[in-house]
Amino acid sequence: MKKLVLIFSTLFLAQIAGLAQPKFQIDGEEVYKGDDVVFHKIDDHTWVGTGKAMSNESLYLLEGSDKSLLIDAGTNIKDLDKIVASISDNPVTLVATHVHPDHTGPSIDVFPELYINPADTVGIPQFMPNYKGEVKFLKDGEIFDLGGRQIEVVFTPGHTPGSTTFIDKAAHYGFSGDSFGSGNLLLTTNFSTLEATCEKMSEIMADNGITELYPGHYFGANKETKKRVDDLCEISKGALSGEIKGEENPRAFLGLNLLINQNGVRVNYAQSALK
Ligand SMILES: [Zn+2]
Repeated sequence: MKKLVLIFSTLFLAQIAGLAQPKFQIDGEEVYKGDDVVFHKIDDHTWVGTGKAMSNESLYLLEGSDKSLLIDAGTNIKDLDKIVASISDNPVTLVATHVHPDHTGPSIDVFPELYINPADTVGIPQFMPNYKGEVKFLKDGEIFDLGGRQIEVVFTPGHTPGSTTFIDKAAHYGFSGDSFGSGNLLLTTNFSTLEATCEKMSEIMADNGITELYPGHYFGANKETKKRVDDLCEISKGALSGEIKGEENPRAFLGLNLLINQNGVRVNYAQSALK
């Protein structure tokens, strides 16, 4: 696990370092600070937790009048259940944007249940082999009713087969994990999958006035926008038609040895993604 964490973290940092000077500054009141994670307020009932193990891996806590939803658990945050309880009194349901060690790491162990997209069960043996709790499955389009606040599940495969975005339509924002890569997407599936995901999300954003999606590695200046989702659509189409050619990836990771870098969006992929 340690080695895996190191590889993920080194590569993410290396890749983020390749982007235009990111601003590592999360605004909003700090409501918890510990050795493993810091939580900042997004609004009165929404918080972002920033982990320290793998390039600002993000956790999001959403509160309704009856229940709270924790989106992702980071890497290895000790007593995460108690930390979350110090911020919100409600019973908490844990859901994951995808099964990867910086989102469903050992910090999940204190939670009796975890909801994932069933398509990401393939990642369980490698990325969360020791979880003893119950793995439950999300459904595309399902609503988590937190009491006066509804969060919709939208499957957004691409980064992984079971990548998922959680949308708060009333608040006009969502939480997309690594689905759109915050400028640096690691595409472990293929471009047809990504194209379909981006078309679907672009439409949802347009129809519901959703202006931003909080990503899985948030550092204050890299929220996803509809423009980025649309740019990823265009890149997918261009890659599939052959109009856009990838170059050798200088920082190949997870076997993703090709890179398209266009409109400020980087897509890391393998030859097998061209379908
Ligand atoms: Zn990931």
